[in-house]
Amino acid sequence: MPIRCLTFALALVASVASATGMNPASESAEPSRAPIAIALHGGAGTIRREDLTAEREAAIRGALEEAARAGHAVLGEGGPAIEAVTAAIVILEDAPEFNAGRGAVLTAEGRVEMDASIMTGHDLQAGAVASVRGIRHPILAARAVLEHSPHVMLVGRGAERFAESRGLQFMPEEWFVTEFRTEQLRRIREDAEASLAPEDRWYSTVGVVALDRDGNLAAGTSTGGTSNKQWGRVGDSPIIGAGTYADNRACAVSATGDGEYFIRWAVAHEICARVRLGDEELDAAADAVVHDVLVEAGAGGGVIAMDPGGRIAMPFNTPGMYRASIGTDGELDIRIYADPDD
Ligand code: ASP
Repeated sequence: MPIRCLTFALALVASVASATGMNPASESAEPSRAPIAIALHGGAGTIRREDLTAEREAAIRGALEEAARAGHAVLGEGGPAIEAVTAAIVILEDAPEFNAGRGAVLTAEGRVEMDASIMTGHDLQAGAVASVRGIRHPILAARAVLEHSPHVMLVGRGAERFAESRGLQFMPEEWFVTEFRTEQLRRIREDAEASLAPEDRWYSTVGVVALDRDGNLAAGTSTGGTSNKQWGRVGDSPIIGAGTYADNRACAVSATGDGEYFIRWAVAHEICARVRLGDEELDAAADAVVHDVLVEAGAGGGVIAMDPGGRIAMPFNTPGMYRASIGTDGELDIRIYADPDD
């Protein structure tokens, strides 16, 4: 890191610590008392009980649990929030039920083009990749951009070359393609004029937010974007401030939904700005953006958000959102639907 950036990062860490009343030195002196928490989403959308087979629902719940526990284990050992976020997302990227990594949606040409981003809240460092092919874990490519490049976002072939130079794993394109997504694309192509059938509006992008023992937040998001996308379309997921944001002074957010709206309303940053500048509580800020701002704009979707105390908000304005959390009480909670019986 150039000296100028390092100086800025150190100054930011100090100002964030004083703004939040945190003292990193004393936090690490008493690690067992500091709260840790993790929250995950596997996408929001038209998720209804009648459309999900028991096997698919079990697979989704199983992957959410595995990812939540893996991320939480990192935090429990005193690991950093960025490590917990990546540990959880790589599991969801490998799970074919989600629209990220293997199982990602297909473009109009029947290809898999993936986007991912990650951000750390103590220094506002961020990394993102967009429109990448063949990288098994796009979230690791985003993290490599954060940690090993002077840039925030790399796209397409350049991003792939960078990932190669960092020794990341590549898989043949067929490895990413599932029968479920092939069938989904076939249905959409058959009726190009029609809007997506309800069962195709399962966004199933994945995202994770975490708080570590040092009081640091991180957020990450990974996706294949939207089915049948064309012309190199990129959504909100790899865009810092839209699909992903983390700032220790406010909160960490990962979003899922109609990406074009999430970009224009700068959803993830908007929630953090309301907390930091508008003095809103996390759940009030997240609810207002998801249920008022986005609904008024005509956008479907949801977010997971966490504040520096480990409080979690998971609002969504669609029939369901795959989600899981292990809060500061250590309790695992997994849900899919909106109804309170879930
Ligand atoms: N937000 C993503 C996009 O527009 C889609 C999703 O959430 O699944 O690319």
